[in-house]
Order: sequence, then C-alpha cells, then structure tokens
Amino acid sequence: MGPEGSGSLALAVAYAQYINCEHRTDEDSCGQCPSCRKYEKLIHPDLHFSYPFFPTKELAVATDVLKEWREAFLTNPYLGMDYWRDRLDAGNKQANIPIKEAHDIIKKLSLKAYEAEYKVLIMWLPEYLDKEGNALLKLIEEPPAKTLFLLVAENQEKILNTIISRTQLVKINKVSHEEITNYLVEKHSLPHNEAREIAFIADGNIQDALNLLQNKEHSSNFQLFVEWLRTIVTDRGSDLIRISEERLASLGRENQKSFILYAINMIRQIILMQQGLKNLVFLREEELKFVEKFK
Ligand SMILES: [Zn+2]
Repeated sequence: MGPEGSGSLALAVAYAQYINCEHRTDEDSCGQCPSCRKYEKLIHPDLHFSYPFFPTKELAVATDVLKEWREAFLTNPYLGMDYWRDRLDAGNKQANIPIKEAHDIIKKLSLKAYEAEYKVLIMWLPEYLDKEGNALLKLIEEPPAKTLFLLVAENQEKILNTIISRTQLVKINKVSHEEITNYLVEKHSLPHNEAREIAFIADGNIQDALNLLQNKEHSSNFQLFVEWLRTIVTDRGSDLIRISEERLASLGRENQKSFILYAINMIRQIILMQQGLKNLVFLREEELKFVEKFK
C-alpha cells in the first residue's frame, strides 16, 4: 500500500526478483543470473501481472495488453493510472479488472512453475476489482505451494474488505522532497534549483514530478496560465470558454493534470508574494516578474 508515484509497484517487482534470484546477497538481487535478466525485462515465465484495463470484445484479459504493460512499466516504473490510461489510448473509458481476468488468474496460478522456485502474481491496483474479486478469495487465502500474491494498492478504503482481511499489509511512504530532487538531478540532469521546485510541487509523487518535468520541457504552461488568468480578471467570459474548449481540452489528460498542478502552484506563489513571503517563492525569471505584478 503506497500512494501514487511512491514506487510501490517497482518495489513489488524488485522483491519478486530478489526472491527468485539465483545469487542473491543480503542486500539485493544479483542482476546477472538468468532469472534476474528475465525479470528485468518482465519476461520471466513465472512472473504474472494483473492490472486494470479497458475491456472490449478483443480485450478480455490483462495479458491481451501485456506488451503495452511491459513497455509502460519499463519506461516509467512509477506509473499512475492516468499514465497507463494514456498509454492504452483509453480516453474516458471505465477501467476494470473483470471477472474473466479473475478466472484467468486462477488458471495461470494452478499451473506448475516453469523454472522458478516461486510463481509470482503481482496485481496492480486491486481497487479496480469489484465484486468479481470474491472469485479470488480462496486463492488469496490458500495459494498453491510456492506462489506469491502481491497486491499493489494506493487506497485501502477502496479495496474489498474480504480481500484486505486475507492479506498482510505493508505500508510504503511517499517519496521525500529530497529524494525526488536527487532523482531529477541524477536521472534527468536537471539543475538543482529546478529539481527542488518540481519536487516541492509534486509532493512525494514521482509520476507528478515526471509530468511537471515533461511540461517544463514544453514550457507552455506559463503562457497558457497567463492568458487564462487575464481573461478571468478582465471578465471576458467568451474568451474563457474558448480557451477551455480549444486549448485546454486538446491537451490530453496528463497535460491537463500538469497544467492544473502548475496553476495551483502559481496561485500559491502569488498569495505568498502578497503576504510578503518572497523568500519562499522559487520561480523562473519570467514567472517571478509576472507574480510580482499580478499579486
Ligand atoms: Zn539474480
């Protein structure tokens, strides 16, 4: 159990890899043995995944989008549901872990392990299991020998109680500002002050940090925010509708989220500036000029 962007899914995969590593040490898996190599590409035959997807006639079970799943996780192991939705081009469709998927899990786990000591099933976001999740209760309570069932969830209150009561809970904290800052500096070569600013806004969610980073690269949020705010303060309703319908609607879900996060932060900065708390404000030069004027 860990909030979005906390790396709990990556941790579950790393744990399963460790359990099955042929030369594991006290600290980590070796990363070299045949098992580790397959794990690192998510192609180990005894590693199974289940996750919400968007069922259609052609897509009945999670493995029907396994290729997309592997690509999504390997590109971004901190992925959130909206990121996954965008990868599947799902628009506003309803995500689900349907009953057919539950049956497929039971079938997969009843087979003998191909080569590993432990068969592993990692279910991402069991919150999306509706009543059909009850089909899995027996399996979760008494899994076949040497079978690990790892549920990676974000919100305990949205999981069936019957499932919760059969699991052992491990809580994962959100990532600290400092860790996100270091991650952005080391992995994305961002200057320290910009990394710190993003870490501050993302507040422990690496997925949000990556969205903000991407947006920074496009750097369009500032212009759009200024235009949007100007139509509001000058009471130009029809322009406001035009911006919403033409510009914001065409951004796509991830960019919209990132725009909203950006706008919230900018408004916060404006309020801080009004209160004379200038030293708390970290902004780029053009943003700082705008905030100073607008306050
Ligand atoms: Zn290994």
